[in-house]
Amino acid sequence: MTTPIDLRSDTVTKPSAAMRDFIANCEVDDDVIDVDPTVGALQDLIAELTGKEAAIFMPSGTMTNQIGLRVHCRPGEEFICESGCHIYNYEQGAYASLSGLTPSLVEGENGILRPEQLHGTVKADNEHFAITRLLCLENTHNRGGGRVQPYEHVEQICQWAHENGLKTHLDGARLFNAVAATGISAKQWSSHFDTISICFSKGLGAPVGSALCGTKEQMYFARRHRKAFGGGMRQAGVIAAGALFALQNNIERMSDDHDNAQKLATMINATEGLSLPGPVDTNIVMMDIDETIGTAAALAGELDTQGVRCLALGPQRIRLVTHLDVSSTQVQTACEIIKDTVEEVLAGSRNLTGSGAQY
Ligand SMILES: *Cc1c(COP(=O)(O)O)cnc(C)c1O
Repeated sequence: MTTPIDLRSDTVTKPSAAMRDFIANCEVDDDVIDVDPTVGALQDLIAELTGKEAAIFMPSGTMTNQIGLRVHCRPGEEFICESGCHIYNYEQGAYASLSGLTPSLVEGENGILRPEQLHGTVKADNEHFAITRLLCLENTHNRGGGRVQPYEHVEQICQWAHENGLKTHLDGARLFNAVAATGISAKQWSSHFDTISICFSKGLGAPVGSALCGTKEQMYFARRHRKAFGGGMRQAGVIAAGALFALQNNIERMSDDHDNAQKLATMINATEGLSLPGPVDTNIVMMDIDETIGTAAALAGELDTQGVRCLALGPQRIRLVTHLDVSSTQVQTACEIIKDTVEEVLAGSRNLTGSGAQY
């Protein structure tokens, strides 16, 4: 069988030969005792790109988000976030178990928040209530289907937050997808936030790592928390090099992934039984499955046997993600396989026997 076309996530990319070469030749040193030179170079570059004083490299976006929360909030305080966001849904509730925090949820439309939805969400100074300390946004929004938060919303929401004494944190795991989709620079987006978390191991294509960006003082505390959370890493240049290579080489090409996502969207619109729950802005495509076809998990299981890998994200929802390890030819092939499979199921000539997991 040919190699599967893996659309499960943009985290599945593998380091290219050029990236591996770059990694092999990077200088390293002990990043816990002081700073590994390659980690230092990566931190300087991402701080510059986001227009912040400093940045700290960490093993995952979960850690950069959780330490971002920890930097801003004390136990017993709350942060406002969108109810479909990664921090709330996919980080095990770590804000509660590790930092004693409560989320205050506001539901967006495909992850998009409108400024007026926030009004009145800062709790009064009253001993019955948690202290509202922080506002978090996610851009692009993963569960929302890779949607870009409209720039004017971000500007207004963050201005509202700061006027109301809140700090702001951006889960920018895929900020560079928002940059590619809008032409608005990472620095411009970041200017509205106190701290920003960036993932190198998503669309940028590095094997490991994320960074938290902010002021020097915030990053001093972030570095302390990173050690306490078990994220102090010794010759971390070995992994930071992949991230540095990704920043230097893989930003420009991200619009190719967005073009490929449009191909999937066009196929979905043209196939009976499939629909898009919202617009496709970047590299994530949500595909809703009519119940006459079966469940998302069963269809994902069947597609897997056909060489197309994807994830069921809800009972009737599949997520397809384009990235630098799937070519436009492969995406075209995936479109044909998905369309043919669904048409055969609806015509009664194929049964869905597979049962993939649901995320
Ligand atoms: C992937 C992701 C993260 C962090 O994930 P890790 O797997 O811990 O690196 C955070 N936020 C969003 C929106 C993500 O998609």
